Amino acid sequence: MKKADIKVGFSCNNRCLFCVQGDKRFQVVDKTDEEVKGNIRKARSSCDIVTFTGGEPTLRKGLVDFIRLAAELRFKTIQIQTNGRMFAYLDYCKSLIAAGANEFSPALHGHVPELHDYLTNAPGSFRQVVAGIKNLKSLGQRVITNTVITKPNYRHLPEIARLLSGLKVDQFQFAFVHATGSARKNFDSIVPRKTLVEPYLKEALAVGIKNGISVMAEAMPFCFMAGFEDQVSERIMPEMAIFDEHGHLPDFKKSRLAEGKAKGSACRKCKYDAVCEGPWKEYPERYGWSEFEPITV
Ligand code: SF4
Repeated sequence: MKKADIKVGFSCNNRCLFCVQGDKRFQVVDKTDEEVKGNIRKARSSCDIVTFTGGEPTLRKGLVDFIRLAAELRFKTIQIQTNGRMFAYLDYCKSLIAAGANEFSPALHGHVPELHDYLTNAPGSFRQVVAGIKNLKSLGQRVITNTVITKPNYRHLPEIARLLSGLKVDQFQFAFVHATGSARKNFDSIVPRKTLVEPYLKEALAVGIKNGISVMAEAMPFCFMAGFEDQVSERIMPEMAIFDEHGHLPDFKKSRLAEGKAKGSACRKCKYDAVCEGPWKEYPERYGWSEFEPITV
């Protein structure tokens, strides 16, 4: 099933140190409600799943109307991808669910307030996200979290996994930071070495698996995932169309492979070459290819 990623604009109430959208909030005008609704209608001709993203979609007063329209158009899954802070308000959660939202994807980047709030640059955001996840689970909702792997938090991935397991989320995903936008500006303090991340990531994934939770890792190629190859998320990502400030990108995978990801010369010797996307290109541009050891047996 194909997914439509509808970006409603780039305003946000967090200031994440790793935000891939970076300064877009100051450069790109948010879409009007009618423009967003037009994109929802356009998306339905090719997609069965819709996710509202940004920027931060819960800042939009019109979000309930967007969800309602998506429900009328009978999208099978209506997801909200968000920093998760607004879910701390139970009545707000109820209003989204009543309109037709049926999957919620908040972000949690630390196991304690000091770490999460440092990365989001938003005091109080940790407590709001955790309260939000509890609200959504109390309402019987499907919750899929996203955690961006960065230099300040990678050693704490197992603790984040234990927290998410205790909150009984349905799936959690760890995504290696993509060094564009703010992450590019903060590269030295934000982007860790993948070889250093590997043992902590595997321990964290094992925590989820042991607790019967679906777990995935993004932008960590197979050469860092021995024993956890099934958790490489790129192998199961749905086809995706993106509706953003540039208009309509009908095949995100195609453009991701052509412009976003990279492969090293040694990748040709690797048994995963055909299925592996490689890292986001900014990583080897800075750190080189020495960590990427082709798997030949
Ligand atoms: S193809 Fe390259 S990046 Fe992918 S797993 Fe093999 S060595 Fe690593």
